[in-house]
Amino acid sequence: MTLPDIWDSAQNILVVLAHPDDPEFFCGATLARWARLGHHITYQLLTCGDKGFNESTPTDMTTDALCSIRHAEQIAAAKVIGVEAVYFMGCADGYLVPDINLRRDIVRVIRKFKPDILITCDPQTLFAVYGINHPDHRAAGQATMDAVFPAAGNPVFFPELLTEGYLPHMPKEVWCSLTMQPDTIIDVTDTWPIKLEALLEHKSQIGDIEKFKERMRSRRTEDSTDENPRYEERFRVVKYH
Ligand SMILES: [Zn+2]
Repeated sequence: MTLPDIWDSAQNILVVLAHPDDPEFFCGATLARWARLGHHITYQLLTCGDKGFNESTPTDMTTDALCSIRHAEQIAAAKVIGVEAVYFMGCADGYLVPDINLRRDIVRVIRKFKPDILITCDPQTLFAVYGINHPDHRAAGQATMDAVFPAAGNPVFFPELLTEGYLPHMPKEVWCSLTMQPDTIIDVTDTWPIKLEALLEHKSQIGDIEKFKERMRSRRTEDSTDENPRYEERFRVVKYH
């Protein structure tokens, strides 16, 4: 069987998601696998996650301070995964809307980085394992998919981007993480420990470390045993070549 992610040369991979920690939670083990196979990975996060307050957030925390913390945490986590660059768009956390301005901004990013493979998340996912899927996740997925098709590769969409020097570019494949309709499953058992190590860099978000590790252990596949745990990450993939 041919694995779905064996490409014949090093791929330029762009991850467009809403928050710091989304890449690691949604598909971090797959990204770690790809980095180790020699592919080039860039993150473009739309917000800095400055509303990511939880029960372990210090009471004197401000949104500006949390934004700085989460930048640093994301850069550290990306380093563990093997990501080459991390960019933040600076949209307001929690208020992401898949409007025409966000679509234009993502088209600009796609044309700038010219990814072969684009990773985002499935905007149709309303229910997540933790309850209601965050609206920013849905908005990020929707705006990114709308940017890919029909705008990114078509010169008559957003002609102002041509003026800025951004020529049309179409990714070859779009991989949607956090999907309830997967058609592509990657066995990520080998790189699961790297995902976990990267997630532990998001200290402001994970709370009690042992409970967190236990929660992550429970994500193993049903055919796992204590001696041989197995982990998967699931995607819906759209191919344009
Ligand atoms: Zn998130």
